[in-house]
Amino acid sequence: MITVESFKGETVAVMGLARSGLVAAQSLAAGGAEVLAWDDAPSRRDAARAGGIRVVDLTRTRFAAIKTLVLSPGIPHTWPEPNPVAVAAKAAGTPIIGDIELLARAMPAACYVGVTGTNGKSTTTALIGHILMTAGRKVQVGGNLGTAALALAPLGADGFYVLELSSYQLELIRETHFDVAVWLNLTPDHLDRHGGMAGYIAAKRRIFAAVRGAPTAVIGIDDEPSRAEAAAVSRESAWRLTRISVISRVTGGVFVEDGQLIDDTGRSADKVMDLREVPRLRGRHNWQNAVAAYAATRALGVARADIVAGIAGFPGLPHRQEPVATVDGIRFINDSKATNAEAAATALAAYDEERLYWIAGGVPKAGGIAALTGFFPRICRAFLIGEAAPGFAATLGRTVPHEIAGTLDRAVAGAFAAAKEAGGDAVVLLSPACASFDQFSDFEARGEAFRALVQALPGGRS
Ligand code: ADP
Repeated sequence: MITVESFKGETVAVMGLARSGLVAAQSLAAGGAEVLAWDDAPSRRDAARAGGIRVVDLTRTRFAAIKTLVLSPGIPHTWPEPNPVAVAAKAAGTPIIGDIELLARAMPAACYVGVTGTNGKSTTTALIGHILMTAGRKVQVGGNLGTAALALAPLGADGFYVLELSSYQLELIRETHFDVAVWLNLTPDHLDRHGGMAGYIAAKRRIFAAVRGAPTAVIGIDDEPSRAEAAAVSRESAWRLTRISVISRVTGGVFVEDGQLIDDTGRSADKVMDLREVPRLRGRHNWQNAVAAYAATRALGVARADIVAGIAGFPGLPHRQEPVATVDGIRFINDSKATNAEAAATALAAYDEERLYWIAGGVPKAGGIAALTGFFPRICRAFLIGEAAPGFAATLGRTVPHEIAGTLDRAVAGAFAAAKEAGGDAVVLLSPACASFDQFSDFEARGEAFRALVQALPGGRS
């Protein structure tokens, strides 16, 4: 845990006591702040009390004497309805920040790499961390992914914090500056929380807000909003910009052509490596993550050979196109993390040479799977679960054979039977294009359930 001393002797309110909030309260208290903490859930309040934190109902607290409000990123402070505690803090002129800001203030000497975008953040963050580790650097990886920022280990001038940053977390930084800021892509997501696309972009853009030294921005230019962002950043002299693409050549940037990662940032366009040979970065979307990680770590001065070794040996993350088992020639892929149609599209695109049995459904996002019609011809049969099933069935219509399985266990059994009947040599892909909350606590629980079901098949453990 990191001790935050910048509020020594001051009163700080911490709202939201899940993973990151609880650690923030403890870090601040350890640093000598008077911490007043609150969460709407009684169980979280109890856990905080048990951890020695003073619990006070912040909805009834006057903010005038409170120096800062540390807000959990999950709690809205603007759209769709600001939380009353955030409203009270704003009315009193109390600044609202998040745990990333506390980390940056507590560990000012370290080097910061921030990763944002709509999809691919976790993979890219983990990959950058893996490359830095392969190159022998001191590195801590966390933020939105895995370990909460303040639960990471302290680092000095020779250390690197690689942080995955959601738009919610970016809304809560003030002076945090990134030595390398990675912006992967941008498509509509979480628009209700940001009051529309402009608000979503404004939140993401905060990654470039504060500047120290000569930072590098790595921006994927394969979608229109991100191209516009790259153009805006290129006009700001403080930032060095590396444009990256997986769909076209980028003069002066890093791109992928025929699966080859090509670095054109130097005197010539150099072929660096063949990404088609990297088993855990399958698919063009993962090439975007690889190129971003390459550009980011090059900007940090890592040798090319170390980067290539790091990318090639990347172990991958669970629940992202994770191979679970092969049973009777049928490969089961866990892509439970694909909670929206764009993410599911990348998985559907990655298995274009195999017979594909698709398990989808859960709590649908706006638009459902209408954006996926281009992939329908390659799907042999779909197995639909959760609340989304009837709507998805209507979209699949007569184009894709499908059945409403209802639950994941029936979907796995049905997909296995169908693939076997067709002679094996197929892929069963769980890539739900939906949130999981109707049937599971989160996408991890859904992925674990899938893994358990597959391993329980006859031959599933071999
Ligand atoms: P995030 O942390 O941004 O949600 P992840 O790395 O966890 O992203 O990947 C989530 C899912 O999004 C993956 O399962 C994959 O289907 C898809 N995905 C990953 N990288 C990209 C990318 N660069 N572009 C589009 N989709 C991606």
